[in-house]
Amino acid sequence: MKQALPFQLSKDRSFFESLGDWMGDVLYDELPEKGFECRDEQIFMAYQIEKTLKERNVLFAEAGVGTGKTIAYLLPAIAYARYSGKPALIACADETLIEQLVKEAGDIFKLQNYLDIKIDVRLAKSRDQYLCLKRLEEAQKDDENEYFLEEIEDQVPDFVYAHSSMQKIFPYGERSQFAGVSDEDWQKVNYHPTQQCMVCDLRNRCGQTIHRQHYRESTDLIICSHEFLMEHIWTKESRVREGQMPLLPEVSMAVLDEGHLLEFAAQKALTYEIQSETLIRLLEKVMVDGVREKTLNLMEVLQELHDKIFGLLRISSNMEETDRMKVDKSFELMELCKQTIRVSDSLLEEFVFESELYTIPEYELRMVEEFLEQYTFSLRLFTEKGDGIEWLEIIDGYETLIIMPRLVTDILHEKLFTSKIPIVFSSATLSIEKDFTYIADSLGIEKFQSFSVASPFDYDEVMKIYTEQIEQQEKPYHVEKLLKNSMQTLILFKSKAAMASFRATIGDRSDIVFEGDRELSTIVKEFQNGEYSTLCSYHLWEGLDLPLETLTRVIIYDLPFPPVDPLFDAKRSFSNDPFEEVELPFMLLRLQQGIGRLIRTSSDYGEIHVLLNEEETLQESRFTGVLPTSISK
Ligand code: SF4
Repeated sequence: MKQALPFQLSKDRSFFESLGDWMGDVLYDELPEKGFECRDEQIFMAYQIEKTLKERNVLFAEAGVGTGKTIAYLLPAIAYARYSGKPALIACADETLIEQLVKEAGDIFKLQNYLDIKIDVRLAKSRDQYLCLKRLEEAQKDDENEYFLEEIEDQVPDFVYAHSSMQKIFPYGERSQFAGVSDEDWQKVNYHPTQQCMVCDLRNRCGQTIHRQHYRESTDLIICSHEFLMEHIWTKESRVREGQMPLLPEVSMAVLDEGHLLEFAAQKALTYEIQSETLIRLLEKVMVDGVREKTLNLMEVLQELHDKIFGLLRISSNMEETDRMKVDKSFELMELCKQTIRVSDSLLEEFVFESELYTIPEYELRMVEEFLEQYTFSLRLFTEKGDGIEWLEIIDGYETLIIMPRLVTDILHEKLFTSKIPIVFSSATLSIEKDFTYIADSLGIEKFQSFSVASPFDYDEVMKIYTEQIEQQEKPYHVEKLLKNSMQTLILFKSKAAMASFRATIGDRSDIVFEGDRELSTIVKEFQNGEYSTLCSYHLWEGLDLPLETLTRVIIYDLPFPPVDPLFDAKRSFSNDPFEEVELPFMLLRLQQGIGRLIRTSSDYGEIHVLLNEEETLQESRFTGVLPTSISK
């Protein structure tokens, strides 16, 4: 259903002229009358976006913290969605930030109240953010005494298992609904790519399906993560071919919030994964009575070969301070993979006969067939000499071989940036000193408009930045000393491994909470409510928005250089000067983002402590130029 525009259209004014008039009234009169401070930079940004909509361009909108970016893009986005009859898409860097945008007292909520309009906003979360009823059933069989299952079962609505079709159905089953469940337990019951939703008998009552129907009908805004948007783009054609709906509906325009992070999401969505345990587990499901001996033998051989592959990967990969372990593609490993492909192909042929005998339940057989097709495809990519990047990583507790394309620029160019949909990149950090080449090149964007406006905050007054030279092994003790002066503190680590090493040294304390202990937005809420005075994270360099006393100190534990891992190694190897073209720009953008967590409103104040070991101290002169104020002595 199309919604009414928030302003009247007249015969003598075009839509865009009327939009400009309305935004002027709202930003210059209506909002200030209601006590909302509109800034010149914000108004400028709103009009730049209006121009982008008119010209159907790509816009890099770099606006410093406190500009009021969200309101600046919401006004034109909502009006344009209503005018075109398709919702606007807002893609955030990750799933946690989606919740931040729609929280009570957030910008959408405020705008709705100020303008007295109902904004139809719906969340489209990634598939792993939903409960899978099939996996819940499996977990119940395996771990029926697990306490976390009770929390989940209590919240599954009655209509799911009711026989009557008269029950009122509503969206349920999101990760955030099960706040007390740890990430590790959640991985046992959430959607997993091996699930076969197309042939699932619970599909119509599954939370994911119900949510998808719900957000498709949004008339104003759909909010998702970069990763989900990318998954939508890569799977759109194949889903349509198979008679399925694309993950997202057609949209009128897209805002890519924290747009500097899009490249990684694009690569991740194009990634193929082979997990050590999935094949073993899936084949066991179909080793049922009545299966022919030939099929059984092939399954056993395949399991053995698969185990051998992971045995070799384990020996050949080396663990550095990163989660991504480099893989040695030895002759022996490649031959083993080729043999595995042959056996897998033969098994798929045998499954055709099995399907006619109906000995294996249809859902399980379909799941294994789909999986094997994907499995052999991934192994072929792995054995071919191509442009891919491969590594071994522990995901959900299992060793996983990842195969990722090195460059996504061509595909992004073809599928996103030539789509004629206006696209706005919004972030406080898109350029290096107003030069947008780095981001445009890494995303394959040839034509774009850009602007850069500074933050309105008086950083010299409200922020103190200290750099502290300290040996790496002394950093935990130095942090302990800093924490004696009790302030609401965020500690940012460059990696999960760095955070784990800090935790191992200082041990668990009742005043410190670590990312990963529970669902992230729940942890952030607890920290904001003062249940903990320190929040440790390797992830919250972006997006965290805690005003006033809820955050008064940020400790940058390490300079956020990219990890030494196969992904960045590939980028390094394809650049002329890896330090200047890859390492430094990445670190500077991330450092600015991390520092940007501290001052969120004109009443905020606080301290930044950047801890520098000997090597990091050498880089001090390289980052002083991007700091919002000079270093305090
Ligand atoms: S539809 Fe998919 S996600 Fe939902 S219960 Fe079935 S298999 Fe799980």
